[in-house]
Amino acid sequence: MDFDVIVIGSGVVGLACAAFLSETFSTLVIERNKSFGQETSSRNSEVIHSGIYYPPETLKSKLCVEGNRSLYQWCQSHNIPHKKIGKYIVATDENEIPYLENLYKNAKSNNVDEIYFVSADEIRRDEPNVKALVGLWSPRTGIVDSHKLMESLYIEATSKNCMFAFRHNVVGIEFSGGLYKIFAQTESGEVFSTTSKFIINSAGLESDTIAQLVGLNIEELGYTLQWAKGHYFRIKPSKSHLAKHLIYPVPPKDSSFLGVHLTVELDGNLKLGPDLEYLSERKQDYSVPEQKAKVFYKSASKYLSGLELEDLLPDQAGIRPKLRTFSNYPDFIIKEETQNGFPGFINLIGIESPGLTCCLEIGKLVKYLLLEK
Ligand SMILES: Cc1cc2nc3c(=O)[nH]c(=O)nc-3n(C[C@H](O)[C@H](O)[C@H](O)COP(=O)(O)OP(=O)(O)OC[C@H]3O[C@@H](n4cnc5c(N)ncnc54)[C@H](O)[C@@H]3O)c2cc1C
Repeated sequence: MDFDVIVIGSGVVGLACAAFLSETFSTLVIERNKSFGQETSSRNSEVIHSGIYYPPETLKSKLCVEGNRSLYQWCQSHNIPHKKIGKYIVATDENEIPYLENLYKNAKSNNVDEIYFVSADEIRRDEPNVKALVGLWSPRTGIVDSHKLMESLYIEATSKNCMFAFRHNVVGIEFSGGLYKIFAQTESGEVFSTTSKFIINSAGLESDTIAQLVGLNIEELGYTLQWAKGHYFRIKPSKSHLAKHLIYPVPPKDSSFLGVHLTVELDGNLKLGPDLEYLSERKQDYSVPEQKAKVFYKSASKYLSGLELEDLLPDQAGIRPKLRTFSNYPDFIIKEETQNGFPGFINLIGIESPGLTCCLEIGKLVKYLLLEK
């Protein structure tokens, strides 16, 4: 056996797994890109969520509430740029108020201790450009420099018992005699193999493909992903005075995203997004069509005054690894696969938002699952 554990993928979740696992196990991380965090982990809103939206008792709610605390602590102890700036969720129409009431109850069921109803006047005093009838205030929501966070996890892992193999694309996995043999291809087409007792599938957008490679029936198990793109528009710096907190609308009905929201970046600049567009083919196309600006402008103008269409400039896009299910809030799949014939193989599938917030807690949970084995 070459390693105790092989982690496939070095996004923020794979890195967090490597940081915790390498305290105890010899660990190899295999990553197809030239460095860590080149995909979804560097294409998101960088928001530290507080755990108010997700149904109680789900992995998303539990890992997010705990992850919020642990991520702030990690940022402080590792000097990661972050700000606990807080967020308003605003109702701009009477019909939206029941949603906020339910959200408040949901947050309380999830043990989010700091969540408050705020009146239109209170919001106006704090955010004069925000239009609202009433809102929820979540002071524990914040923003983080996701690249610096990933760098700190990478340093943590490499300072322990962990090696990284970048530019290696995992193309095959065999299981026999209690060991996994992984085949990884380099850019020049050479294929190398290495063995381990445990595998962590943290391959993000390709986590279902990796589960299939080992021999799992992903359709039957409900592991199949559908990619859903989210575009962003940045707001001209001359308008960065329009808001100082994160501003979220009430999400569109029957939708599995939070609505086009306003994000403040660490430098104070503002960004709108993401929207939600299901992709019919699996292609990492991160372009942002300029004509989408009108829809973003219309959505944001409902809750923000002082914005002009010309203030919006195409920014980045990210792709969500969404599980193909009818549920609006499908939970993360974090599963050790003994039951399906693959002991020591842990799948992390459907790790969409709030995966960044939960990364440390996912890493700890994965280590716990392996120590149980
Ligand atoms: C638009 C958008 C906004 C979001 N906003 C937030 C937010 O504000 N707050 C929050 O908490 N979360 C947010 N998220 C979610 C968060 O970004 C993700 O949950 C998190 O980044 C997932 O990390 P990961 O490591 O699982 O995946 P990834 O970052 O995708 O990493 C997976 C890695 O696996 C590698 N890989 C894949 N296949 C192979 C292979 N065959 N061989 C080798 N390597 C492979 C990839 O190259 C990649 O580096 C958002 C997501 C999106 C898309």
